[in-house]
Amino acid sequence: MEVKLATEMGFCYGVRRALSLLDAASHRYGKLQTLGHIVHNEQVVERLSQKGISPVNNIAELKNSIVAITTHGVGPGVLGELKSRSLNIVDTTCPWVNREQKAARRLAESGFSVVIFGDADHPEVKGVLEWAGIGGRVSKEPSLKNLFTKYPRRLGILSQTTQNPQAFKEFVKSIIDELLPSGMEIRIINTICDATQKRQEAAVELAGTVDAMIVIGGKGSANTRRLAEICQARGVPTHSVETVKELQDSWFTGKCSIGVTAGASTPDEVIQEVVGKIKNMDAGVNCNTTNSVYIST
Ligand code: SF4
Repeated sequence: MEVKLATEMGFCYGVRRALSLLDAASHRYGKLQTLGHIVHNEQVVERLSQKGISPVNNIAELKNSIVAITTHGVGPGVLGELKSRSLNIVDTTCPWVNREQKAARRLAESGFSVVIFGDADHPEVKGVLEWAGIGGRVSKEPSLKNLFTKYPRRLGILSQTTQNPQAFKEFVKSIIDELLPSGMEIRIINTICDATQKRQEAAVELAGTVDAMIVIGGKGSANTRRLAEICQARGVPTHSVETVKELQDSWFTGKCSIGVTAGASTPDEVIQEVVGKIKNMDAGVNCNTTNSVYIST
């Protein structure tokens, strides 16, 4: 069975940066707590807890004077409360999320109502929504009719960093079609991060060349979920796993080439374990290939 790896997958710049900031902070301060999971991956969270870095759900649960903000960032309310408690803050907010927060704040300050294309229950989106102020809304519906009682005069549109660029484009197009006749001012800022775009492009390209795709990543990881969605949409059987234990023999029966991709918060070791196991899976047919792994170009 041939195993092909996506050219871009696994830990992104933002996650590597966050883990290195946490490493430095744990050397300096010893134990610390993170406000929420630093990334949506259980293996990473487990590894951090062995170093004395543990998550809490909210500010009320903090017992330590050192707190880390996760890659997803926080809104001004939470930030203000942390500062008012004179805690030592280790801010691992991804620079891409930071850029999105600043865009939301600037638009709000300039009198724009802000619509964020994203998942309302995701921590990044909750934080950005706060920066967008009272005119902020979150939606993936291609219409503003249910979001505002009256169309705002000025509208800004942003995206959660990990959304699909094509879906964002279609969302923006629908909103423009709906609003242009009303003479509104619309400002669009593409805040999808380049790690997300590159991983999605590599995944869809690979999906077009294999019999099945395996997507590795945390169950709660939005960008991992998106990778699986776009591979599925490409028409190839796609299976998502968090660890090697979830691989099922039946997925590989009759399949001679398997593509592998992984979300931006999936550690290298987890990817290697999964790839190692797939190489030894039995396709049950003569594929005329030796077990091999290569990177798609
Ligand atoms: Fe930052 Fe993008 Fe990685 Fe999220 S996926 S942490 S926004 S680089």
